[in-house]
Amino acid sequence: MKEYLNKDLYEILDITSDADEVQIKSAYRKMARKYHPDVNNNTQESIEKFKEITEAYEILLDVNRRKEYDLLRGYTRRKTENTETNRTQAHKAYSSVSKDKPKQKKNDGTKDSFSKIFNNIMDGLFQSEQPHKEQKKKPKPENGRNINFTVSIKLEEAINGTTRTVNVLHTEKCPKCEGRKFINGAKCPMCKGTGEISIHKRINVKIPAGVKKGSKIRVANEGDKGYNGGKNGDLFLTIEIEDNRLFKFDGLNVLCEIPITPYEAALGATIEIPSVSGNISMKIPPLTTSGQKFRISGQGLKDEKKGKTGDEIVTVKIEMPKDLSDREKELYEELKKHSTQKIRENLK
Ligand SMILES: [Zn+2]
Repeated sequence: MKEYLNKDLYEILDITSDADEVQIKSAYRKMARKYHPDVNNNTQESIEKFKEITEAYEILLDVNRRKEYDLLRGYTRRKTENTETNRTQAHKAYSSVSKDKPKQKKNDGTKDSFSKIFNNIMDGLFQSEQPHKEQKKKPKPENGRNINFTVSIKLEEAINGTTRTVNVLHTEKCPKCEGRKFINGAKCPMCKGTGEISIHKRINVKIPAGVKKGSKIRVANEGDKGYNGGKNGDLFLTIEIEDNRLFKFDGLNVLCEIPITPYEAALGATIEIPSVSGNISMKIPPLTTSGQKFRISGQGLKDEKKGKTGDEIVTVKIEMPKDLSDREKELYEELKKHSTQKIRENLK
């Protein structure tokens, strides 16, 4: 069905009916730039409009099709032609076309020819645009997005530094349609009309010594790609330190729970405890209770950049032996006899 016969192709391209090839091409270039779906957020409206102007261009540039169109629509291009006669003929022919709709199968291949011709048009456009290239507007620079990633490391790695290979999913502009989403008015087959493709990239990252939980490491330029002179995004790694058997972490502070015996709690003692820098000794005062906390200054994680060091916070827990020897029992009996403390007095 020749739907275009119902349209004013000259009006669509904003040209007069006597426009020559050069004028048609120039008008189409102007329109194509204005209505290209890429510069109109790919709205359905812009896609339709773009198809419409391209169809108009394609028909008017084809000498035979234009002649037929002019005839059927009653346009006269040459002023020497007899306008009256043409109009009458055109009207008759146009009416017959409308009535014979089912017979007009000839144009069913419009889509194919549309894209073929569009390709030619684009080639032609680019060729003719070469000399004006320096006048062309530069596309806007687009900065790439940042990518965030969480990495879990062991305590020793946090203290000594380490490296990690991270597998990052990058988003890049589709190389086939160059981010335009459409090729010849149809959705790009490579990116399915999204304009982007995702690719995995392995990146080696050095994690410096002394990182703490929540530290962020920036790897410049390893985010998503920037375009048209825009900067690449950055990759940000957020550090998680795995809790281990002995320690938990709270920022630069290291938390640890230490068992002590009842007599150490009663008499006080100097005991050896683990720290992130190896074993250290710690003094327990007499009459220490279970759950009491001790802060050992400077035995936490180091933040070399800020010149800060955390503390080790030790919670002691009085632990009973699993079994008592006869002698131990004797001594506890003795202790019981001599005990002066009435610890449940306040409950009465
Ligand atoms: Zn694409």
